[in-house]
Amino acid sequence: MTPSAEQWAAAVAAVRSAGPDDEILLICHVNPDGDALGSMLGVALGLRRLGHTRLRATFPGEFTVPGPYADLPGLDLLVPEPDAWRDPRLVLIFDVASESRLGALADRLGAPRSVVLDHHASNTGFGGVRLVDPHAAATSVVAEQLLERLGVPLDAEIAECFYVALATDTGSFKFDMTTVAVHELAARLIATGIRPGEISRRIFDSRPFGAMKLTGEVLGRAVLDPAAAGGRGMVWTYATLDDLERHGQPPYVLDTLIDPVRSVAEADVSIVVKQTAEGEWSVSLRSKGAVDVSGVAVAQGGGGHRLAAGFTGYGEAGDVVATVRRLLDEHLN
Ligand code: AMP
Ligand code: MN
Ligand code: MN
Repeated sequence: MTPSAEQWAAAVAAVRSAGPDDEILLICHVNPDGDALGSMLGVALGLRRLGHTRLRATFPGEFTVPGPYADLPGLDLLVPEPDAWRDPRLVLIFDVASESRLGALADRLGAPRSVVLDHHASNTGFGGVRLVDPHAAATSVVAEQLLERLGVPLDAEIAECFYVALATDTGSFKFDMTTVAVHELAARLIATGIRPGEISRRIFDSRPFGAMKLTGEVLGRAVLDPAAAGGRGMVWTYATLDDLERHGQPPYVLDTLIDPVRSVAEADVSIVVKQTAEGEWSVSLRSKGAVDVSGVAVAQGGGGHRLAAGFTGYGEAGDVVATVRRLLDEHLN
Protein backbone atom coordinates (compact mmCIF):
# COMPACT_ATOMS: atom_id res chain seq x y z
CA MET A 1 0.00 0.00 0.00
CA THR A 2 2.69 2.48 1.05
CA PRO A 3 4.82 3.49 -1.97
CA SER A 4 7.64 1.01 -2.62
CA ALA A 5 11.31 1.88 -3.11
CA GLU A 6 10.78 1.25 -6.84
CA GLN A 7 7.85 3.68 -6.96
CA TRP A 8 9.84 6.39 -5.20
CA ALA A 9 12.76 5.83 -7.57
CA ALA A 10 10.40 6.00 -10.57
CA ALA A 11 8.86 9.25 -9.28
CA VAL A 12 12.28 10.86 -8.82
CA ALA A 13 13.33 9.65 -12.28
CA ALA A 14 10.13 11.06 -13.81
CA VAL A 15 10.77 14.50 -12.32
CA ARG A 16 14.46 14.41 -13.28
CA SER A 17 13.52 13.48 -16.85
CA ALA A 18 12.08 16.99 -17.28
CA GLY A 19 14.57 19.66 -18.31
CA PRO A 20 14.46 23.18 -16.85
CA ASP A 21 12.48 24.48 -19.84
CA ASP A 22 10.08 21.55 -20.21
CA GLU A 23 6.44 22.23 -19.42
CA ILE A 24 5.37 20.77 -16.09
CA LEU A 25 1.71 20.78 -15.06
CA LEU A 26 0.54 20.27 -11.48
CA ILE A 27 -3.16 19.45 -10.92
CA CYS A 28 -5.24 19.03 -7.76
CA HIS A 29 -8.90 18.10 -7.30
CA VAL A 30 -11.97 20.15 -8.19
CA ASN A 31 -13.16 22.47 -5.38
CA PRO A 32 -9.71 22.32 -3.82
CA ASP A 33 -9.22 22.18 -0.05
CA GLY A 34 -6.13 23.02 2.01
CA ASP A 35 -4.43 19.68 1.32
CA ALA A 36 -5.04 19.80 -2.42
CA LEU A 37 -3.73 23.37 -2.82
CA GLY A 38 -1.04 23.16 -0.14
CA SER A 39 0.56 19.92 -1.32
CA MET A 40 0.43 21.06 -4.96
CA LEU A 41 1.85 24.55 -4.41
CA GLY A 42 4.53 23.27 -2.01
CA VAL A 43 5.82 20.90 -4.69
CA ALA A 44 5.50 23.60 -7.37
CA LEU A 45 7.72 25.89 -5.27
CA GLY A 46 10.15 23.02 -4.73
CA LEU A 47 10.40 22.45 -8.50
CA ARG A 48 11.01 26.20 -8.96
CA ARG A 49 13.91 25.92 -6.49
CA LEU A 50 15.30 23.11 -8.70
CA GLY A 51 15.42 25.56 -11.61
CA HIS A 52 12.28 24.60 -13.52
CA THR A 53 10.95 27.65 -15.36
CA ARG A 54 7.76 26.44 -17.05
CA LEU A 55 5.56 25.45 -14.13
CA ARG A 56 1.80 25.79 -13.99
CA ALA A 57 -0.53 24.60 -11.25
CA THR A 58 -4.28 24.28 -11.76
CA PHE A 59 -7.52 22.53 -10.85
CA PRO A 60 -10.64 21.75 -12.89
CA GLY A 61 -13.82 23.79 -12.88
CA GLU A 62 -14.58 27.21 -11.54
CA PHE A 63 -11.42 29.13 -10.70
CA THR A 64 -12.17 30.18 -7.13
CA VAL A 65 -9.51 29.92 -4.46
CA PRO A 66 -11.27 29.72 -1.06
CA GLY A 67 -10.59 32.82 1.04
CA PRO A 68 -8.62 30.95 3.71
CA TYR A 69 -6.08 29.86 1.07
CA ALA A 70 -5.86 33.15 -0.83
CA ASP A 71 -2.49 34.00 0.79
CA LEU A 72 -0.71 30.70 0.18
CA PRO A 73 2.83 31.02 -1.15
CA GLY A 74 3.18 29.94 -4.78
CA LEU A 75 -0.24 31.23 -5.86
CA ASP A 76 1.49 33.09 -8.71
CA LEU A 77 1.99 29.64 -10.31
CA LEU A 78 -1.76 28.91 -10.20
CA VAL A 79 -3.71 29.32 -13.46
CA PRO A 80 -7.35 28.64 -14.39
CA GLU A 81 -8.13 25.38 -16.19
CA PRO A 82 -8.16 26.91 -19.73
CA ASP A 83 -4.56 28.12 -19.22
CA ALA A 84 -3.21 24.70 -18.20
CA TRP A 85 -0.45 23.36 -20.51
CA ARG A 86 -2.09 21.27 -23.27
CA ASP A 87 0.82 18.83 -23.81
CA PRO A 88 3.01 18.98 -20.73
CA ARG A 89 6.16 16.86 -20.53
CA LEU A 90 5.34 15.91 -16.95
CA VAL A 91 2.10 15.92 -14.94
CA LEU A 92 1.89 15.75 -11.16
CA ILE A 93 -1.52 15.05 -9.55
CA PHE A 94 -2.38 15.88 -5.94
CA ASP A 95 -5.04 14.59 -3.50
CA VAL A 96 -7.22 13.17 -6.28
CA ALA A 97 -9.09 9.98 -5.30
CA SER A 98 -10.62 9.28 -8.71
CA GLU A 99 -10.25 10.54 -12.28
CA SER A 100 -13.70 12.12 -12.05
CA ARG A 101 -12.20 14.65 -9.62
CA LEU A 102 -9.93 15.86 -12.47
CA GLY A 103 -12.86 16.88 -14.69
CA ALA A 104 -11.72 17.64 -18.26
CA LEU A 105 -8.08 17.75 -17.10
CA ALA A 106 -8.11 13.94 -16.88
CA ASP A 107 -6.85 13.91 -20.49
CA ARG A 108 -3.47 15.24 -19.24
CA LEU A 109 -2.86 11.77 -17.80
CA GLY A 110 -1.78 11.01 -21.37
CA ALA A 111 1.42 13.06 -20.82
CA PRO A 112 4.73 11.20 -21.38
CA ARG A 113 5.22 11.07 -17.59
CA SER A 114 2.66 11.33 -14.80
CA VAL A 115 3.06 11.03 -11.04
CA VAL A 116 0.08 10.67 -8.68
CA LEU A 117 0.52 11.79 -5.05
CA ASP A 118 -2.42 10.83 -2.84
CA HIS A 119 -3.57 9.26 0.43
CA HIS A 120 -7.13 8.04 -0.27
CA ALA A 121 -7.69 4.34 0.41
CA SER A 122 -10.38 4.54 -2.27
CA ASN A 123 -7.89 5.79 -4.94
CA THR A 124 -8.98 4.17 -8.17
CA GLY A 125 -5.50 3.40 -9.52
CA PHE A 126 -5.00 5.85 -12.40
CA GLY A 127 -1.74 7.48 -13.53
CA GLY A 128 1.81 6.41 -14.39
CA VAL A 129 3.93 6.48 -11.25
CA ARG A 130 1.76 6.13 -8.17
CA LEU A 131 2.74 7.52 -4.78
CA VAL A 132 -0.46 6.63 -2.92
CA ASP A 133 -0.14 6.10 0.82
CA PRO A 134 -3.45 5.47 2.60
CA HIS A 135 -1.60 5.66 5.92
CA ALA A 136 -0.51 9.25 5.26
CA ALA A 137 -2.54 11.87 7.13
CA ALA A 138 -2.42 14.23 4.15
CA THR A 139 -1.13 14.26 0.59
CA SER A 140 1.43 16.80 1.82
CA VAL A 141 3.11 14.00 3.84
CA VAL A 142 3.83 12.24 0.53
CA ALA A 143 4.74 15.55 -1.14
CA GLU A 144 7.32 16.42 1.52
CA GLN A 145 8.96 13.00 1.10
CA LEU A 146 9.17 13.52 -2.64
CA LEU A 147 10.90 16.91 -2.23
CA GLU A 148 13.33 15.35 0.23
CA ARG A 149 14.18 12.61 -2.27
CA LEU A 150 14.67 15.30 -4.93
CA GLY A 151 17.12 17.08 -2.62
CA VAL A 152 15.00 20.21 -2.15
CA PRO A 153 15.43 21.63 1.36
CA LEU A 154 12.33 22.96 3.13
CA ASP A 155 12.06 26.73 3.26
CA ALA A 156 9.39 28.86 4.95
CA GLU A 157 7.25 29.19 1.80
CA ILE A 158 7.18 25.48 1.02
CA ALA A 159 6.66 24.74 4.72
CA GLU A 160 3.66 27.06 4.95
CA CYS A 161 2.00 25.26 2.05
CA PHE A 162 2.62 21.83 3.58
CA TYR A 163 1.59 23.01 7.07
CA VAL A 164 -1.75 24.33 5.80
CA ALA A 165 -2.29 20.98 4.05
CA LEU A 166 -1.39 18.94 7.14
CA ALA A 167 -3.43 21.09 9.55
CA THR A 168 -6.46 20.93 7.22
CA ASP A 169 -6.52 17.16 6.78
CA THR A 170 -5.81 16.33 10.44
CA GLY A 171 -8.53 18.74 11.63
CA SER A 172 -5.84 20.80 13.40
CA PHE A 173 -3.97 17.71 14.59
CA LYS A 174 -7.07 16.20 16.17
CA PHE A 175 -7.90 13.16 14.03
CA ASP A 176 -6.72 9.56 14.56
CA MET A 177 -4.18 9.93 11.74
CA THR A 178 -2.27 12.42 13.93
CA THR A 179 0.72 10.17 14.60
CA VAL A 180 4.19 10.78 15.97
CA ALA A 181 5.36 11.13 12.36
CA VAL A 182 2.75 13.84 11.73
CA HIS A 183 3.99 15.86 14.71
CA GLU A 184 7.59 15.30 13.62
CA LEU A 185 6.75 16.64 10.18
CA ALA A 186 4.93 19.59 11.75
CA ALA A 187 8.03 20.26 13.86
CA ARG A 188 10.28 20.26 10.77
CA LEU A 189 7.88 22.66 9.04
CA ILE A 190 7.64 25.01 12.03
CA ALA A 191 11.45 24.99 12.33
CA THR A 192 11.61 26.95 9.05
CA GLY A 193 10.14 29.93 10.90
CA ILE A 194 6.46 29.74 9.92
CA ARG A 195 3.89 30.97 12.46
CA PRO A 196 1.31 28.24 13.27
CA GLY A 197 -0.92 30.58 15.30
CA GLU A 198 -1.20 33.09 12.49
CA ILE A 199 -1.79 30.38 9.88
CA SER A 200 -4.48 28.67 11.98
CA ARG A 201 -6.32 31.93 12.59
CA ARG A 202 -6.33 32.58 8.87
CA ILE A 203 -7.46 29.14 7.70
CA PHE A 204 -9.78 28.05 10.55
CA ASP A 205 -10.82 31.01 12.67
CA SER A 206 -11.75 33.75 10.24
CA ARG A 207 -14.87 34.09 8.13
CA PRO A 208 -17.24 36.76 6.82
CA PHE A 209 -20.24 37.75 8.98
CA GLY A 210 -22.59 36.46 6.26
CA ALA A 211 -20.95 33.04 6.40
CA MET A 212 -21.61 32.86 10.14
CA LYS A 213 -25.28 33.83 9.65
CA LEU A 214 -25.63 31.26 6.86
CA THR A 215 -24.07 28.58 9.08
CA GLY A 216 -26.51 29.44 11.86
CA GLU A 217 -29.46 29.03 9.54
CA VAL A 218 -28.27 25.74 8.05
CA LEU A 219 -27.42 24.27 11.48
CA GLY A 220 -30.83 25.38 12.73
CA ARG A 221 -32.56 23.03 10.30
CA ALA A 222 -30.48 19.94 11.16
CA VAL A 223 -32.39 16.71 11.80
CA LEU A 224 -31.41 13.95 14.24
CA ASP A 225 -32.39 10.39 13.26
CA PRO A 226 -31.47 8.18 16.23
CA ALA A 227 -32.64 4.92 14.60
CA ALA A 228 -30.38 5.23 11.52
CA ALA A 229 -27.06 3.39 11.09
CA GLY A 230 -28.25 0.38 13.08
CA GLY A 231 -29.31 2.60 15.98
CA ARG A 232 -25.97 4.47 16.15
CA GLY A 233 -27.75 7.58 14.96
CA MET A 234 -27.41 9.98 12.07
CA VAL A 235 -27.62 13.77 11.92
CA TRP A 236 -28.04 15.67 8.69
CA THR A 237 -28.71 19.05 7.18
CA TYR A 238 -28.66 20.68 3.76
CA ALA A 239 -27.84 24.02 2.14
CA THR A 240 -29.21 25.33 -1.14
CA LEU A 241 -27.86 27.74 -3.75
CA ASP A 242 -30.63 30.07 -2.60
CA ASP A 243 -29.19 30.02 0.94
CA LEU A 244 -25.81 31.06 -0.44
CA GLU A 245 -27.33 33.80 -2.53
CA ARG A 246 -29.43 35.23 0.30
CA HIS A 247 -26.32 35.56 2.46
CA GLY A 248 -24.09 36.65 -0.42
CA GLN A 249 -21.63 33.80 0.12
CA PRO A 250 -19.55 31.60 -2.25
CA PRO A 251 -20.02 27.78 -2.06
CA TYR A 252 -16.67 27.13 -0.32
CA VAL A 253 -17.95 28.65 2.95
CA LEU A 254 -19.95 25.41 3.32
CA ASP A 255 -16.81 23.22 3.14
CA THR A 256 -16.34 23.25 6.94
CA LEU A 257 -20.03 23.06 7.83
CA ILE A 258 -19.70 19.33 8.48
CA ASP A 259 -17.52 20.06 11.54
CA PRO A 260 -20.22 21.42 13.87
CA VAL A 261 -22.66 18.83 12.51
CA ARG A 262 -20.35 15.90 13.24
CA SER A 263 -19.94 17.09 16.84
CA VAL A 264 -23.47 15.91 17.71
CA ALA A 265 -23.03 13.30 20.46
CA GLU A 266 -26.21 11.33 19.69
CA ALA A 267 -25.16 10.45 16.13
CA ASP A 268 -22.33 8.31 14.79
CA VAL A 269 -22.91 9.46 11.22
CA SER A 270 -23.22 13.04 10.01
CA ILE A 271 -24.23 14.30 6.59
CA VAL A 272 -24.23 17.69 4.92
CA VAL A 273 -25.92 17.93 1.52
CA LYS A 274 -24.83 21.05 -0.42
CA GLN A 275 -26.59 22.06 -3.60
CA THR A 276 -24.25 22.65 -6.56
CA ALA A 277 -26.87 22.93 -9.35
CA GLU A 278 -30.56 22.21 -9.92
CA GLY A 279 -31.04 18.63 -8.67
CA GLU A 280 -27.31 18.16 -7.93
CA TRP A 281 -25.69 17.98 -4.48
CA SER A 282 -22.21 17.65 -3.07
CA VAL A 283 -22.54 15.26 -0.13
CA SER A 284 -20.16 15.18 2.86
CA LEU A 285 -20.20 12.10 5.10
CA ARG A 286 -18.48 11.55 8.44
CA SER A 287 -18.51 8.69 10.96
CA LYS A 288 -17.17 8.44 14.49
CA GLY A 289 -16.24 4.80 13.84
CA ALA A 290 -19.31 2.58 13.50
CA VAL A 291 -19.66 2.95 9.73
CA ASP A 292 -17.23 2.88 6.80
CA VAL A 293 -18.63 5.94 5.05
CA SER A 294 -16.14 5.62 2.17
CA GLY A 295 -18.01 2.42 1.25
CA VAL A 296 -21.25 4.39 1.09
CA ALA A 297 -19.57 7.11 -0.97
CA VAL A 298 -17.96 4.65 -3.39
CA ALA A 299 -21.34 2.92 -3.85
CA GLN A 300 -22.63 6.30 -5.01
CA GLY A 301 -19.71 6.98 -7.37
CA GLY A 302 -17.63 9.04 -4.90
CA GLY A 303 -14.80 8.22 -2.54
CA GLY A 304 -12.78 9.26 0.48
CA HIS A 305 -11.57 7.74 3.73
CA ARG A 306 -13.20 5.28 6.16
CA LEU A 307 -14.44 8.06 8.45
CA ALA A 308 -14.65 10.99 5.99
CA ALA A 309 -15.96 10.67 2.47
CA GLY A 310 -18.14 12.29 -0.16
CA PHE A 311 -20.03 11.89 -3.42
CA THR A 312 -22.25 13.76 -5.86
CA GLY A 313 -25.96 13.11 -5.29
CA TYR A 314 -28.93 13.79 -7.58
CA GLY A 315 -32.61 14.64 -7.11
CA GLU A 316 -34.08 16.15 -3.94
CA ALA A 317 -31.92 16.60 -0.83
CA GLY A 318 -34.31 14.35 1.14
CA ASP A 319 -33.93 11.56 -1.43
CA VAL A 320 -30.13 11.78 -1.26
CA VAL A 321 -30.28 11.44 2.54
CA ALA A 322 -32.76 8.53 2.28
CA THR A 323 -30.34 6.73 -0.05
CA VAL A 324 -27.47 7.23 2.38
CA ARG A 325 -29.67 6.00 5.25
CA ARG A 326 -30.38 2.80 3.33
CA LEU A 327 -26.71 2.20 2.41
CA LEU A 328 -25.45 2.84 5.96
CA ASP A 329 -26.79 -0.42 7.34
CA GLU A 330 -24.84 -2.31 4.65
CA HIS A 331 -21.57 -0.62 5.68
CA LEU A 332 -21.70 -0.98 9.48
CA ASN A 333 -18.21 -1.91 10.70
P1 AMP B 1 -15.46 16.60 2.08
O1 AMP B 1 -16.68 16.10 2.75
O2 AMP B 1 -15.75 17.36 0.83
O3 AMP B 1 -14.56 17.32 3.03
O4 AMP B 1 -14.67 15.31 1.58
C1 AMP B 1 -14.31 14.28 2.46
C2 AMP B 1 -13.44 13.28 1.75
O5 AMP B 1 -14.16 12.65 0.71
C3 AMP B 1 -12.23 13.90 1.09
O6 AMP B 1 -11.15 13.03 1.31
C4 AMP B 1 -12.57 13.95 -0.37
O7 AMP B 1 -11.45 13.76 -1.17
C5 AMP B 1 -13.55 12.80 -0.54
N1 AMP B 1 -14.58 13.18 -1.53
C6 AMP B 1 -15.52 14.14 -1.39
N2 AMP B 1 -16.32 14.21 -2.48
C7 AMP B 1 -15.87 13.26 -3.33
C8 AMP B 1 -16.26 12.81 -4.65
N3 AMP B 1 -17.29 13.38 -5.31
N4 AMP B 1 -15.56 11.82 -5.21
C9 AMP B 1 -14.51 11.25 -4.58
N5 AMP B 1 -14.10 11.60 -3.35
C10 AMP B 1 -14.75 12.59 -2.73
MN1 MN C 1 -8.81 17.02 -0.52
MN1 MN D 1 -6.18 15.08 1.48
